[in-house]
Amino acid sequence: MWVFWVFVFNMRVVVKFGGSLLRGGVDFLRIAREVCRLLGEGFEVVVVVSAVKGVTDMLEVLSRPVDRWQDMVLQIRELHEMVVRELGLSSTLEKEVIAKINSLFEDLYRTVEAINVLKETSPRIRDLVLSFGERLSVILMWAALTKLGVECIHLTGREAGIVTNERYGEAKPIYDLSRKMVRENLLRYLNSGITPVVTGFIAGTVDGKITTLGRGGSDYTATLLAYLIDADEVILYTDVPGIMTGDPKIVKNARVVPELSYEEAIMSAQLGAKRLHPRTFEPVRDTDIRTVITSIGASERTVIEKEFKDPPLKMTAISRGDVLLRARVPEETFHDFLMELSLGLSKLGIEDVRYMTYSDYESRLYMIVRGRALDHTLKLISGLQSKRLIEEAKMYKDIAIVSVIGHGSRDPALIAPYLEKLRDTHTLATIQMKNAFAVVVPSDKGATVMYRFHEELLKQWEKK
Ligand code: ASP
Ligand code: MG
Repeated sequence: MWVFWVFVFNMRVVVKFGGSLLRGGVDFLRIAREVCRLLGEGFEVVVVVSAVKGVTDMLEVLSRPVDRWQDMVLQIRELHEMVVRELGLSSTLEKEVIAKINSLFEDLYRTVEAINVLKETSPRIRDLVLSFGERLSVILMWAALTKLGVECIHLTGREAGIVTNERYGEAKPIYDLSRKMVRENLLRYLNSGITPVVTGFIAGTVDGKITTLGRGGSDYTATLLAYLIDADEVILYTDVPGIMTGDPKIVKNARVVPELSYEEAIMSAQLGAKRLHPRTFEPVRDTDIRTVITSIGASERTVIEKEFKDPPLKMTAISRGDVLLRARVPEETFHDFLMELSLGLSKLGIEDVRYMTYSDYESRLYMIVRGRALDHTLKLISGLQSKRLIEEAKMYKDIAIVSVIGHGSRDPALIAPYLEKLRDTHTLATIQMKNAFAVVVPSDKGATVMYRFHEELLKQWEKK
């Protein structure tokens, strides 16, 4: 007699729902139904949620001394109470939810009151205040899922096991420790059929102080958890059905990019396509985990995986708010310059250099720095100038970086038609990177360049 052994492997997926989807009770229920659909298909699901739309921005204001803070806290409270009412819960469940929410609002009120009494805040307090958005929304998500009969539990990132360093505002996970703790916590729930609902964006230090991973960090939470529990897939649900070929505000015919490699997706996050946290793909880039970006019910999606695929050029992106530094660095002093620069940057804690290149035949340095690191960088540069390590330094502040992303970005035949379109655009720099090339133009030329690049991109796609 033959015996067939049937092994049932559950696909494990981490799903994240962005703040743009979270406005009212209807939205939470729609999301809960999507989670039910995945559970019904046999997936093990970990749910990650952002704060309700707009809440993190309001909390950002409340994280510093501000007039009429009581009104703002009340406004946030009413917003969440409205969502609870719209969920249409049984009276026992509603009471439970209201009690949880009330206790969070008492905490928030006291924290914000302290900031305004002391007229003082700090990065640590800011993170604490910002954390309330996600801590509230996981409760709403938990309630919506419970209403639909899903056995679930709500957790903060730290309760799930994500432990970070103490770099408030931009905390980094301690991988070994987090791996151990996240697996202990989440796998235990998953194995007993309980769906964890985890706050995106927030985590905590070893001794339990709340930290945040940086604005827009919920996607990062999702990929991080997926990596730590060896999930098969991450699905990032947003209000657009994927990563687009161009900024839809500038190009009306933008399309969804069907497939990207992680290296390309990382470039797109850095170069400003869709507001993705720059670290979003870091945890999964070298794994077999795939990331899907889509919206609920959409037939289109962007699938991101390790391997490179065609077409060689996949999308355009635009980013503003950076600063371009152009300078002459004599070749003889280049090494000293580089040493002093990296030392200086790390001393100032600046990780905001997006790009740097040196062309030795013209002795030119091009460096792109995030606007918010500008003051520090200026100081550093003037120090280097007085040491004569750098000459003719010039800053361009009002710039746009327009880029074309794809693994074919180094193929001269492919990029030539783009460069031809720059005749009248006052190009300040052309930058060749791995998986992207970018041009720096004055800000008011940005839209024109993106428009032309995008037309060319679609033309190349058609030729396939
Ligand atoms: N709520 C946080 C923010 O708005 C995190 C996120 O949405 O990803 O930045
Ligand atoms: Mg948000």
